[in-house]
Amino acid sequence: MNGFRRLGTASVVRGGKGWSLLGAKCSACEAPIYPVLTVCPHCGGRDFVALPLPAIGTLYCHSVVHMGPRGVDTPYIVGYVDFSDGLRVFGRIEMEVGAVQTGQPLELRVKPANKRASQFIYFFTAPGEGSRQAGS
Ligand SMILES: [Zn+2]
Repeated sequence: MNGFRRLGTASVVRGGKGWSLLGAKCSACEAPIYPVLTVCPHCGGRDFVALPLPAIGTLYCHSVVHMGPRGVDTPYIVGYVDFSDGLRVFGRIEMEVGAVQTGQPLELRVKPANKRASQFIYFFTAPGEGSRQAGS
C-alpha cells in the first residue's frame, strides 16, 4: 500500500486527505482489528489485509486527566471512539474540557511528529475543526 509506515505496533498510510491509521481485516472471519496483531482474536486466523481506519467516529466515553506525566500540560482529555466497522480506538481528544460530549462525532487525525515523518501521533478532534494536517 502506498505511503505505508510503521507506528510502533500500529501503522499509518498516506491517502488523498493526509495520513490515516492503518488497521487490518482478518481474511478468514473479516473482523476489523486495531492495533494490528499477528493472530486474529476472533478466529485465530493469521492472514490479514490492510484496512485504513475511517476518519470519523463516535465518542463512546471520555475522561479528563488532571495529573499527567511531567512536561505535559493538564487538564487534557482521553477517550474511546467507536467506528462504523466495529472498532473502538483509545486516544487523546484535542478539545477544550467541557466541550466534549459522549456520543458526538469526532475526527481522527494523524500527523508526523517530526520533519522526517519517522514517527507519527494521532488524536481526535471535532470534525472540520482547524486545518487538517497536510501530512508533510
Ligand atoms: Zn478472524
